[in-house]
Amino acid sequence: MKLEFSAADEAFRLEVREFVRTRLPADIKRKVELGLRLEHEDYVTWFRILEERGWITPGWPVEHGGPGWNHVQRYIFDEETLLGGAPRIIASGIQMLGPVLIAFGSEEQKKKYLPDIRHSNTWWAQGFSEPGAGSDLAAVRTSAVLEPDGEHFVVNGHKVWTSYAQWCPMMFALVRTDPAAKPQEGISFLLIDMASPGVEVRPIRMLEGGADLNEVYLDNVRVPAGNLVGELDKGWSYGKYLLGHERTGIAGIGSCKQQLARARRIAAQQGLDGDALLQARLAQFEIELMALEFTALRLLSANQRSRMPAVEASMLKVRGTELRQAIYETLVDIAGPDAVPFSPEVLELAHLGEGVVPEELVALAANCLDSRKITIYGGTSEVQRNLIARAAMEA
Ligand SMILES: Cc1cc2nc3c(=O)[nH]c(=O)nc-3n(C[C@H](O)[C@H](O)[C@H](O)COP(=O)(O)OP(=O)(O)OC[C@H]3O[C@@H](n4cnc5c(N)ncnc54)[C@H](O)[C@@H]3O)c2cc1C
Repeated sequence: MKLEFSAADEAFRLEVREFVRTRLPADIKRKVELGLRLEHEDYVTWFRILEERGWITPGWPVEHGGPGWNHVQRYIFDEETLLGGAPRIIASGIQMLGPVLIAFGSEEQKKKYLPDIRHSNTWWAQGFSEPGAGSDLAAVRTSAVLEPDGEHFVVNGHKVWTSYAQWCPMMFALVRTDPAAKPQEGISFLLIDMASPGVEVRPIRMLEGGADLNEVYLDNVRVPAGNLVGELDKGWSYGKYLLGHERTGIAGIGSCKQQLARARRIAAQQGLDGDALLQARLAQFEIELMALEFTALRLLSANQRSRMPAVEASMLKVRGTELRQAIYETLVDIAGPDAVPFSPEVLELAHLGEGVVPEELVALAANCLDSRKITIYGGTSEVQRNLIARAAMEA
């Protein structure tokens, strides 16, 4: 076990840092650092800059355009891009669907969809959750019935919490194809064109005023049979593969560092350098973050190339997300009364400067409210704790 970065890793870190410093557009960096709302265009601009460098699909195999990095390089990349003020890679096509198509898709599907995902031409929505099927995904009820001629599925159902569906012309979904089978066995993995008749996307207003979450209603939507990924009724295992795929970034250590640096910067601007209670709180975060980072590095060095076991990923997710929420709450405390007059409009760059609150502070309350979601998506903390407890009791 080695807890130091090698000389090659450090050289790679400098390469990524320099790339972000010179290539990240200034307006996008400014929005990220102030915690303002990013538009689809902002993400696509940055993703295409990464793609030109061959860095947009770190989790894909080299033959499909991945950079061939090990876990440590991916970790460094996440950290350096976030610390440099770049947006997170949030596209489900890149992080989730791509690896599934590469592993289980037909040659035709790979040819048709993978290049567009890499070039950020097509964003994909993840249609897994439903009312009544979130933590318990096996309860999925959206049905897909194959027509007698075998050419199309007819899909009916209701998906919910579908992130960024408003920007996505396509959705990958879990659908029930055999209602008589055991819950996990009658599910299939289907690719749905969002422009098909019968698809309706309705926005869900979020705590901070945005609407990046959606409901998706599917009413007799006809989907070509060729859009089935892998085998009929085997969608559960592809879904599990997908959920288990993105593990290295799950603790969000880069994001924790980004927010802690922001807290120190704003505290200094607010003249709170001498506030012993605040400084003690920030120091406590540093310690917890260091402990989390060492845990992550220990796990990464033990699993240089293989995937991280689910229970360890659960530990990192619970600690990392709870720590990040605590840092966001501290940011609001630092702003004090200035965090109160929050309005969703100030999250647009164009509206900056119109309020009475200093620019650095306008988004803090919104960011804190928004951070409530991080202990829910990707598996709630309660469910992760169950997994950890089960593993501990079985050990
Ligand atoms: C911001 C955000 C973005 C999301 N994006 C997407 C997306 O793009 N696509 C998509 O398909 N889904 C998405 N989701 C949905 C997300 O995956 C679910 O919200 C999550 O899995 C929890 O499911 P649920 O909301 O149905 O809550 P439930 O499963 O109903 O849980 C409700 C509460 O009960 C607790 N609970 C449930 N089961 C247990 C148990 N066995 N033991 C102890 N406690 C339990 C939970 O922890 C939670 O506190 C998103 C969610 C959020 C918040």
